[in-house]
Amino acid sequence: TSFESFGISPEIVKALTSLRYFNPTAVQEAVVPLGLENKDIIVESQTGSGKTVAFGIPLCEQAEWEENKPQALIMVPTRELALQVKEDLMNVGRLKRIKVTAVFGKAPFKTQKSELKQKSHIVVGTPGRLLEHLKEGTLVVDKVSSLVLDEADEMLNMGFIDQVEDIIAHLPQERQTMLFSATMSEEINRLTSFYMRDDRASVRI
Ligand code: AMP
Repeated sequence: TSFESFGISPEIVKALTSLRYFNPTAVQEAVVPLGLENKDIIVESQTGSGKTVAFGIPLCEQAEWEENKPQALIMVPTRELALQVKEDLMNVGRLKRIKVTAVFGKAPFKTQKSELKQKSHIVVGTPGRLLEHLKEGTLVVDKVSSLVLDEADEMLNMGFIDQVEDIIAHLPQERQTMLFSATMSEEINRLTSFYMRDDRASVRI
C-alpha cells in the first residue's frame, strides 16, 4: 500500500515523498489508520521501525494551523530524541507549515519560553522541563487533544514517572493517548489502564 491510501492530505503525502518515504513501514500501516480515527493506541515496537512517522502523520494531519496553542504533546526520555522527533515532525508537516517546539533540560529556559510564546502546534520534550514550563505558565495545555508517550520504558527507567503523571494530570481528559515502548512491564500496564481509554488498541510489531 501507499501513503495515499490513508486518505491524508496531499501536502503530507508530498512531504513524505520528498523524504523518499514511498511506502509505509509495518508499524505505520498499523498505527496511522487508528491514529487518524483518534483511537488510543499502545505500540510495542523497536526503534528503527518508523514509529516517529507513525505518530507524526496523525498529529500533523489533525493539527489545525489557525490554532495558536499546542494541540499535541509528546514526552520523550532524552534531549537527543526530542530533537530527532522535532526534526521528523517538521519534515512531515512542512507543507502544512506545522510548527514544532522542542524543550529539554540543560538548555536555556528563556529561549524555550520565547519559542513557546510563538505559534506551536506540537510540543515535544523531556518530562522535567515540560513540567517546569507548565508550572511557569509558558506551556499551555488546554488545547492538547493528543498525547504521545514515546519510549515509555526508557522514561520509566530514567525515573521520570512522577513528572509524567504530574503532566498528564494537567491535560484535558478528552484526548487521544498513544504510548510507544520497546518493552512492556507491570508499570507500563498500570499507566495504560490509568491514563488511556478502555477501548484502546494494542499493536505489537
Ligand atoms: P524511527 O523508528 O522513528 O526511529 O525511524 C527509523 C528510521 O526509519 C528513520 O531514519 C526514518 O527516517 C526512517 N523511516 C520512517 N518511515 C519510513 C518509511 N515509510 N520509509 C522509509 N524510511 C522510513
